[in-house]
Amino acid sequence: MAKETKYIFVTGGVLSGLGKGIFAASLGNILKSRGFSVNMQKCDPYLNVDAGTLNPGEHGEVFVTDDGAETDLDIGHYERFIDRNLTKISSIMTGRIYTEVLEDERKGKYLGKTVQVIPHITNKIQKFIMDAGKGFDIHIVEIGGTVGDYEGLHFIEAIRQMRRKVGRENVLYAHLVYLPFLETSQELKTKPAQSSVRDLLALGIHAQIIGCRAEHEIETEHLKKIALFSDVDVQAVVPLPTITSVYQVPENLEKSGLGDYVCEELGLAKRARKGNGWERYLYNLEHTTGEVKVGLIAKYMSNEDTYKSVNEAIQSAAISNNKLAKIVWVDAEKIEKEGVKVLAGLDGIIIPGGFGNRGIEGKILAAKYAREKNIPYLGLCLGMQIAVIEFARNVLGLKDANSGEFDHGSKNEVIHIMPEQRQCMSEDDYGATMRLGAYPCVLNKGSRSYELYKQEQISERHRHRYEFNNDYRDDVTKAGMLIAGTSPNKHLVEIIELPKHPYFVGVQFHPEFKSRPDHPHPLFNGFIQACLKKLK
Ligand code: GLN
Repeated sequence: MAKETKYIFVTGGVLSGLGKGIFAASLGNILKSRGFSVNMQKCDPYLNVDAGTLNPGEHGEVFVTDDGAETDLDIGHYERFIDRNLTKISSIMTGRIYTEVLEDERKGKYLGKTVQVIPHITNKIQKFIMDAGKGFDIHIVEIGGTVGDYEGLHFIEAIRQMRRKVGRENVLYAHLVYLPFLETSQELKTKPAQSSVRDLLALGIHAQIIGCRAEHEIETEHLKKIALFSDVDVQAVVPLPTITSVYQVPENLEKSGLGDYVCEELGLAKRARKGNGWERYLYNLEHTTGEVKVGLIAKYMSNEDTYKSVNEAIQSAAISNNKLAKIVWVDAEKIEKEGVKVLAGLDGIIIPGGFGNRGIEGKILAAKYAREKNIPYLGLCLGMQIAVIEFARNVLGLKDANSGEFDHGSKNEVIHIMPEQRQCMSEDDYGATMRLGAYPCVLNKGSRSYELYKQEQISERHRHRYEFNNDYRDDVTKAGMLIAGTSPNKHLVEIIELPKHPYFVGVQFHPEFKSRPDHPHPLFNGFIQACLKKLK
């Protein structure tokens, strides 16, 4: 008999933005460290088909999987917490469910029946969930939004029915709530949490685990009260106070005994926990010996999550070198207005990925500053293109050098859409031209990148339309730029470096997506080490 998958559904209430993704991922982490195979999935109520077109300034970073899915940033948390590369099926948005149901309807698959939210949408959701869970011991599914939201009801109904579909012994419902603190009376209130558990109950789901987020100390009395009013075992009401690092959350859940509780409730054999490999990271985090100041030249300044994986990758590299990264966000437009003096005092500069014109000239000034002043530079996707434009303008003397994205028709489009790409580019299917997901890259053995990766062939994730224009390969090479990595057929430039510079690396891909807290990405590690050398 095929092994049965156990399901844990994670919902949230009271407020959004409580860290439901981290809570779900931490559950995954503690179960994985008991030796169970774990998959994770996020169901997002948005009507979008995927996260590809969402504005990162509002919604946070678009995380890309190996198989080229453009997903919500929670998928990045999942990958980092369960240390596994996930796939398309781990991120489903309402738009994708409806698209499939409507396609089935057009094909006549419903045999003349009326097509309805229940059962057709809910069945489709369950199919996505069960397909993703297949073959795993445990499948954790996070429902985006907060309970009671009109737009999330189809997901709640689908997971309610799952208990019948796969057997109640195979399902656990976990609910994350918030306990506000009243300054006037200096007390933590549990009423909103109780109401939220009741809202869920009104939809037919009795929470079996309650995660309690609070910015103040949570006392046993609060937990007992919530347990009593929600009819939940007191060991299953776990405090989640705000802590220094999200990577401490699994350990905190363990301390509350949640790992054993989940195994018991799901009838899983009790297994000893092996530790999650983060011990060194967490030890280093508490024992850092100073700071490294990294400038992130940003376009979106209002949302901390916009460059989530980049931040995580920087911090993980810094911490493995016993330093705390102080990440300074520099508004690219501010550089345009006030000049490079706003970059003074930075130990290194990173230009992350991005789309569109705004702030581009500021980024070019930052790359020039890094190159001329020997400041370590790491260019991620757009950041690599910026480095090439800057080099072409100021070293090759091609004053109008640009990317076709910003100045289409410039005489020197050093970054461009390749002719074969252009053919399949039409106004109404712009997305089709994007290079998405993992591609192989062969490293030049004389490069810094090879020294860091310590292997000749690598695989990294992409999300871009424009490419290095091969007409300029000879000229940049002659002028001192090294083509450090290409596609296996040598056609696409994937990495550029300046060998004479302490650290100047631009990559056409997004290495940040593959960095993990306990094993930082080699390119970020090399970058941080170069920053530290400069500090000495
Ligand atoms: N806008 C650039 C392109 O499409 C870079 C994209 C990115 O940085 N992800 O090629």
